[in-house]
Amino acid sequence: MAISLEVPAVELNNVTKSYGAVSALKGISFSIAAGEVVAFLGPNGAGKSTSISLMLGLRRPTTGSVALFGENPRIAKHRARVGAMLQESAMPSTLRVHEVVELFGRFHERPMVVRDVLAMAGLDEKRNARLNQLSGGQKRRVCFALALVGNPDILFLDEPTTGLDIEARRRFWDQINLQVIAGKTIILTTHNLEEADSLANRIIVINHGEIIADDTPEQIKRHVGGKHISFRASKLTLAELQRLPAIRDIREIGEKFELYSKEPERFLAALFSQHAAEVSELEVVGAGLEEAFLSLTVEKKKAA
Ligand code: ADP
Ligand code: MG
Repeated sequence: MAISLEVPAVELNNVTKSYGAVSALKGISFSIAAGEVVAFLGPNGAGKSTSISLMLGLRRPTTGSVALFGENPRIAKHRARVGAMLQESAMPSTLRVHEVVELFGRFHERPMVVRDVLAMAGLDEKRNARLNQLSGGQKRRVCFALALVGNPDILFLDEPTTGLDIEARRRFWDQINLQVIAGKTIILTTHNLEEADSLANRIIVINHGEIIADDTPEQIKRHVGGKHISFRASKLTLAELQRLPAIRDIREIGEKFELYSKEPERFLAALFSQHAAEVSELEVVGAGLEEAFLSLTVEKKKAA
């Protein structure tokens, strides 16, 4: 077995973080190697931004340890190697785009050429615009440019595309992917499975302050591919339906039944082979991420 002697880019060991009575992280551990592109996927309030702020050394863990390049993230020498795009960031609104990028570049020893940074962030045409004249999506691009300008080894992007329309989101993905090709270590957060899948080669699913899955996008998608199924079957009882395979959370609502299945084909085959005549108004829709998180949480508890 090959043993890597390289220091991990980021390492967390049994980290908890509480804000007063709120327990935002309940003991998480992971190690991210240099060159990895990792997405933290989870719903609002899962603990994604808290995790980012700990990795950046902006906050301290309540218990446990956090290391960036093998050392305390709070030490100043790491600043030059790190670029970050946080969820909320205030910017001096009357400066022009190229001015603010240039200003940020001066905080770094080896800044990139401003023109190149603006091109990478898709801001060529907006270089002379004042920040207060930009759309929400364009402001996110400025934040991205500020994360890039120091030519960092590792990029932290906290919900980089939240609030953008599909087209703007896709363009942003292309720009992030250019950084992936350039070999940067990238840690991003999102509540969008498609985004995590398009950008990352590893997805860490986080919910209620706990890591519930840490795997390749292919494996994660296999687990979250379930369907919501509903149909009318007035002559059937809940007990009869519960004997069918591959169902979870079946409920009777009026004359309709609703359930969630990770193997919808198997369930439907059994339903129709036994009860075809009674079933009407069948609907099958992709389950949302919330159900997926729930099902991953249930699986993890069963495994434990
Ligand atoms: P996410 O980024 O996944 O939406 P956060 O890390 O922002 O989640 O928040 C995790 C939990 O911690 C939430 O319950 C949130 O309300 C709480 N929280 C976050 N920041 C603070 C804070 N500064 N003070 C109190 N509670 C906070
Ligand atoms: Mg957040």
